[in-house]
Amino acid sequence: MTRDFVYSTSPSHIVFGAGKLDTVGDWLDRIGCRRALVLSTPHQKADAERLAETLGSRAVGVFAGAVMHTPIDVTETAMDVVHQTGADCVVSLGGGSTTGLGKAIAYRTDLPQIVIPTTYAGSEVTPILGQTEAGRKTTVRAASILPEVVIYDPALTLGLPVAMSVTSGLNAMAHAVEALYAEDRNPVSSLMAIEGLRAFRESLPQLVAQPSDAEARAEALYGAWLCGTVLGTVGMALHHKICHTLGGTFDTPHADTHAIMLPHTAAFNAVAVPELLAPVAKMFGGSVGGGLWDFARAAGAPLALKDLGLSEADLDRAAEIATQSPYRNPRAIDRPSIRALLQDAWEGRRPAN
Ligand code: NAD
Repeated sequence: MTRDFVYSTSPSHIVFGAGKLDTVGDWLDRIGCRRALVLSTPHQKADAERLAETLGSRAVGVFAGAVMHTPIDVTETAMDVVHQTGADCVVSLGGGSTTGLGKAIAYRTDLPQIVIPTTYAGSEVTPILGQTEAGRKTTVRAASILPEVVIYDPALTLGLPVAMSVTSGLNAMAHAVEALYAEDRNPVSSLMAIEGLRAFRESLPQLVAQPSDAEARAEALYGAWLCGTVLGTVGMALHHKICHTLGGTFDTPHADTHAIMLPHTAAFNAVAVPELLAPVAKMFGGSVGGGLWDFARAAGAPLALKDLGLSEADLDRAAEIATQSPYRNPRAIDRPSIRALLQDAWEGRRPAN
């Protein structure tokens, strides 16, 4: 094997451990911020208000309007609050939607971000921002988007509903699977991807059986950090392209779409790069796509796109969009084979390999 790679490290501070939510104030001091605007979704507003209260005068307000896919009009409303309050940083408490809003503010202002993730989506460790305007999703990548501090407190994930834990975990695993065959992968990204997959392989079944198992929650969040990190480090391929198409054009829910598509896209690419996906086959009972599908099914994940409200008639258009300006992929892509793959995923069939 020829060793040939580029490896760049992230400048972020990663803080991990149960109870670390209590260190937000210390981290504000460390990065020289005195006027934090705390962000959340409407659903997590009470948690955001509690956090703001514990920060005392270091918090200048709460904006609890974050929603999925970072619509520009929500960002503009939040920007008004940033200006009115004179905030000098944002503290994002929640999943990828809240992190997305914090990133959108940082992209416009260069304000520092502290992110406290409560799902496994992984956005907190990427310099990528997806935004939507008039139903169109665009993605930008910039150094200002990468959060300065990420505080992973597994205690905050104890109440993440089981169904969401499973789809969010499979969403994270999809980052790791695609990292294994990324053209710009490096030895460290591959190590992190395999370790991230292992962490979910062990913790997700435990979480399903016992959602309040603190050790399993910590292991899953550790996996989320690893999988998110590789998402931010190396390029994604067919799987992410299809999920962005389905979410962006047909508004299918983010994590569920990833969960359903992963076994199918992994099986499709395993034909071209079996050696790169061998660690996945080994971890999931000998077969990449079939093994991931069995794992998802045992965890109670959704298995069929038709259950997300996508109609069979939409599949032609989805295949057309997903094969336009495709991301780099280890296996050549053509419309008929992607259409067939989508049909299998729509019906919820178990991949053969
Ligand atoms: P989400 O942030 O939309 O959360 C879903 C719901 O669950 C929200 O109502 C939220 O408040 C609630 N929730 C979150 N954590 C909870 C907890 N611990 N307990 C109870 N409820 C909780 O969902 P998500 O899947 O984390 O994020 C999806 C968004 O993130 C999408 O817009 C996606 O595009 C984006 N994303 C971006 C990147 C990136 O690198 N830019 C990476 C992954 C995801």
